[in-house]
Amino acid sequence: MDNCKKFRDLILTDYIDAQLDIAIKTQVEEHLHECASCKAFAQEVKTSLVVPFEKVTRQEVPVYLWQEIEEKIQQQQNLSKSLWDLIQGWMEGITFPKLVPAVCSLAMLVFIGSAIFFNQQIKQAQNREQGSYLAYVLTSEGSTGQASNGDLGTPIEKYFL
Ligand SMILES: [Zn+2]
Repeated sequence: MDNCKKFRDLILTDYIDAQLDIAIKTQVEEHLHECASCKAFAQEVKTSLVVPFEKVTRQEVPVYLWQEIEEKIQQQQNLSKSLWDLIQGWMEGITFPKLVPAVCSLAMLVFIGSAIFFNQQIKQAQNREQGSYLAYVLTSEGSTGQASNGDLGTPIEKYFL
C-alpha cells in the first residue's frame, strides 16, 4: 500500500510530465502492470490532467498587445536613460577627473590631522589620569596605616580593584 502511494505521487508529478529517470519510469510501469488500482489511477490522471491540454491550441497574441508592451518597455528605458544622462552631466559639471586627486588628498590630510589631534587628546587624558592617580597615591599615603588588615591593601590595589 505504501508502495502504491509512492507510485501515485510519482504518477501525479514527474510521470505525467515525462520527467522521470528511465530506471524509475520502468519501475512505475512495472508496477502499473501488476497493480490494477494504480493502473486505473494513472489512466484517470491522464484523462483528466493530460488529455484536455493536448487539445489546447496555441493562442496568438493580438498585435496591439505586443505594441503596448513594447511601448511600456521603451518608456522605462527612456526614463532610466534620462536619469543616467542627468547623473553623467552632473559628474562632468563638477569636472570629476581633476577633482578626485584634490578631494582625496584633502580627505587624507583631514584624516591624518584628526588622527594626530585625537591621539594628542588621548595622551592628554592619560596624563591627566596619571596625574590624578599620582595625587591620589600621594594624598592617601599618610592614611594607609590600616591598609594591612583591609581587603584592598595598597593604594595601587585600591586604584585598580
Ligand atoms: Zn499500486
